[in-house]
Amino acid sequence: MRLVDSHGHLQTRPFDPDRDAVLAAARVAGLARILVPGFDPRTSVDGIAFARAAGDVESSVGIHPHVAAEVDDAAWAALRPLADDPLAVAIGETGLDYDRGFSPRPAQLANLRRHLALAWETRKPLILHCRSRAGERDAQDELLAELAAAGVGSGDWRERLGDRPPAVLHSFSGPVDYGERALTMGCAISFSGLVFRAGEEASAEVARIVPADRLLVETDSPYLSPPGAPRRRNEPRWVEVTARWVAERRGEDPDALGEALVRAYDRFTGRA
Ligand SMILES: [Zn+2]
Repeated sequence: MRLVDSHGHLQTRPFDPDRDAVLAAARVAGLARILVPGFDPRTSVDGIAFARAAGDVESSVGIHPHVAAEVDDAAWAALRPLADDPLAVAIGETGLDYDRGFSPRPAQLANLRRHLALAWETRKPLILHCRSRAGERDAQDELLAELAAAGVGSGDWRERLGDRPPAVLHSFSGPVDYGERALTMGCAISFSGLVFRAGEEASAEVARIVPADRLLVETDSPYLSPPGAPRRRNEPRWVEVTARWVAERRGEDPDALGEALVRAYDRFTGRA
């Protein structure tokens, strides 16, 4: 079975002792594609360096909503040139997190808008993180409003990014109509081990309706271990657990789904 991990932070410290061995194990497990997203200045630099050393791995450049308030204009200006690196295939991860709220909401919104402008400028898709407070959908609704205000889903964006989706909702979580509206804007959706948690039942419904060419899976390593994976540290090879769950929801053969995932990944990253 060929697989992709559209979101695994292999450049981070938990992988310092055995990064190359983890990558080798992923390849043995069938991982044909891995995207290593940056989420702050340090991990954006390190992600590109890892992709360059590994070969056959992609990265991205961005500021997570958790640290939005820490990145001032000077830090953003320093980060900006990295987005032009061919190995940085996407902008993010960024987004909104009103659950933990480590940065004030105005800082998160300003950070998101910078990324939207950068995606437009570089013609690269966004990687979006979105978490609302428990039992609410405030972050999802505001994220959709921000995407709409920036024109995502319009003909202008389609012209700008060509065949590539304007964004991926990474580690999808949220109500079904949120997924539907993002799909209407042309976004891709990626599922992680989060789908196995209680309260994530809507994800099963959304997994059924995502068009195959915009469907992705991920680990969000080292986080979100699916059932069977070590809780202390998730790795790309465990993406198979989530991929099989998606195949079951869609009534598809896992191997055929794996091939479709590789095609969708190549479309998203512009590798196709
Ligand atoms: Zn992440």
